Amino acid sequence: MTESLKLTCATCGQTNRVPADKIAGGPKCGTCGDPLASGKVAELDPPAHDKMVRGDTLPLLVDYWAPWCGPCRMMAPQFAQAAMALKGRARFAKINTEDHPHISQRLGIRGIPLLILYANGREVARLAGARPAAEIEAFVRQKAPAAA
Ligand SMILES: [Zn+2]
Repeated sequence: MTESLKLTCATCGQTNRVPADKIAGGPKCGTCGDPLASGKVAELDPPAHDKMVRGDTLPLLVDYWAPWCGPCRMMAPQFAQAAMALKGRARFAKINTEDHPHISQRLGIRGIPLLILYANGREVARLAGARPAAEIEAFVRQKAPAAA
């Protein structure tokens, strides 16, 4: 029996059920057709953020960042590289905390960049400060249970 994973589409917010063994094949959203696990970093707004962190079963790593934050901008390519390396294993997203400060307040975020890893609707771990891709990847592999 194949386990099915719940993935929220970062584009339209639709919840998709994807068999775990289809993740690597590049599943698409049943509603808007956008890729669900492309290895790219999705830019979230608060409704999509909340839906993904609470509903998704596949591990989700969110980068809480802001345009004024130099280390955040420096880390962005490293974050994107780790996202590609973990394609199908975890999804990566980012949210602009300058545009959406209530998200930081609610999560008690005092410094950025901050990465928060979620899985099965729960916060799993946090990683603070700008990190190289290898460290981000190791963090996810170590903290998040492998899908299926
Ligand atoms: Zn969609």
